[in-house]
Amino acid sequence: MSADVVIAGAGPNGLMLACELSLAGVRPIVLERLPARTAENRANGLVGQVVRMLDRRGLYGRLGGGSEPPRPTPAFVFGALPLDLSALDDNPLYLLQTPQLRIEQVLEERAVELGVEIRRGHELTGLTQDAEEVVADVAGPDGPYRLRARYLVGADGGRSVTRKLTGIGFPGVTRNSTVSRTASVAVPPELVDPATGGLNVPGYGLVPPFMHHRTEHGLFVFAPFPGRSTLVTTMEWEPGAAEDDGLPPLTLEELGESVRRVLGADLPLGPATGPGPHLMRRLAGGNTRLAGRFRDGRVLLAGDAAHVHSAIGGPGLNLGLQDTVNLGWKLAAEIRGWAPPGLLDSYEAERRPAAERVVMHTQAQSALIAPGEEVTALRRLFTELLGDRNVVRHIAGTMAGADVRYDMGAGDVHPLVGRWAPDLSLDTGDGTGPVRLAELTADARPLLLDLTGDASLAGEAAGWDDRVKAVTARLLDPATTNAPGARDGSAGPRGSGGPGDGESGEITALLLRPDCYVAWASSSPRPDSAERAALRAALARWFGAP
Ligand SMILES: Cc1cc2nc3c(=O)[nH]c(=O)nc-3n(C[C@H](O)[C@H](O)[C@H](O)COP(=O)(O)OP(=O)(O)OC[C@H]3O[C@@H](n4cnc5c(N)ncnc54)[C@H](O)[C@@H]3O)c2cc1C
Repeated sequence: MSADVVIAGAGPNGLMLACELSLAGVRPIVLERLPARTAENRANGLVGQVVRMLDRRGLYGRLGGGSEPPRPTPAFVFGALPLDLSALDDNPLYLLQTPQLRIEQVLEERAVELGVEIRRGHELTGLTQDAEEVVADVAGPDGPYRLRARYLVGADGGRSVTRKLTGIGFPGVTRNSTVSRTASVAVPPELVDPATGGLNVPGYGLVPPFMHHRTEHGLFVFAPFPGRSTLVTTMEWEPGAAEDDGLPPLTLEELGESVRRVLGADLPLGPATGPGPHLMRRLAGGNTRLAGRFRDGRVLLAGDAAHVHSAIGGPGLNLGLQDTVNLGWKLAAEIRGWAPPGLLDSYEAERRPAAERVVMHTQAQSALIAPGEEVTALRRLFTELLGDRNVVRHIAGTMAGADVRYDMGAGDVHPLVGRWAPDLSLDTGDGTGPVRLAELTADARPLLLDLTGDASLAGEAAGWDDRVKAVTARLLDPATTNAPGARDGSAGPRGSGGPGDGESGEITALLLRPDCYVAWASSSPRPDSAERAALRAALARWFGAP
């Protein structure tokens, strides 16, 4: 074998998967067809639970999040309607305004630190597989060669070669009805409202910053990113708009004309100054597609290779990066030989419904921003609904991907089981002061957290101590959870709804999978023999035989 796993694609998802596999003790090789990192930025930020997930791998600060733990955003936008999240006591929507170029740089640096081999200028061109291995055909700078591995993961984007080579279908829809134009620009400083940071467009009025602003003629966005060039975006509905390959590159004049059509007013636009790279992008049409399967034998798909959808609301990396964190430890368990039966297939069982939720809410948002009086009426109704805090919470949970509740099986009784573990502040007794749960999960190992005070639960995991880390601690933060849905029982991808008991429950012990989802939990000060049996069953279900 040349490697345990070959990953096709050094985009964010391929790099994140490589980090996860390395943390779990297996050896990936990443193939990337581009000879150097791209200079064209796509995402402008991370939206949703992914922000907390990156915090739990020690990457939040490195991505520009600062030294304090992540905090939820007080406001966001759904289908160009403002979402006031400030009144939610369990607001799940986290935001990190970081350009994708920076995300890729940080993930690549982390992968290299962990010893990952990244081969740039090496393109996956073919593959064959049998019961034992995958053989990848690679076109490298010195000619073609072959790599043999136990598994291959296609993280090679929406046009995934891996997906095509395995014959996995990509059903869905292509819409040829929109054209979006985005450019890095300079706007006259006197047009920027000092109080709100919004843009006073002469003859139109104030447009708030970072808000999708809908008119009857299209969409306008003014995004004055601190420390980066300001972006202006328009989206217009042009029936028959197809891929814009072959058209001359976008110009500021073309963008200005589009602004005039959308807002009915002229906006003076100058070329961006300051640090680049500067963007000039026209995108026509769009795809919403889900791979027919996420797995074909020893080949798996992750990120855009498995699903593409509108970028509205920025859900792409929230979905993709959490795919890779779901997949990494399961694939490593297969390779290291302790995976229980069905573990690898739980990747698709858990992540396909999450992808379907993203397809649902991006399509819903696309409908809400379209022109037309009927849409305007629908927006009025939605605005009324958004006056209800429960509706806001539901939408925020959906956008955050925080409404996910995985099926953990028979021991699925505590309200937190199947859910993302809440943030906890702990005293581990080593005299170093409060420890955040996020600090205990950075090594991506399964974690048994015993808060009962007598440390006897740790003994239950003794047979798994080569895989499972047991930590005894005291809970410092009495607010046991901010896990959305744990309170309101909102429906998640499982479809059956959350616990619905209105309570998150006390926590005296937690068993966490490496992706930080709760596999077992207790609220008893002294878990009895039945609970201990359930703990052992959960350990075996997720981490194999003792
Ligand atoms: C305009 C736009 C704005 C967006 N904004 C946001 C946002 O604000 N927030 C957000 O979360 N998401 C956003 N997204 C989505 C996000 O950019 C994607 O979800 C993300 O790039 C997917 O990452 P990936 O690693 O799966 O694929 P990619 O980023 O597409 O990376 C795939 C990599 O595989 C390489 N590759 C392809 N074929 C091969 C091969 N045969 N062999 C080897 N290498 C290969 C490619 O060169 C590429 O480097 C946006 C997308 C677009 C288009």
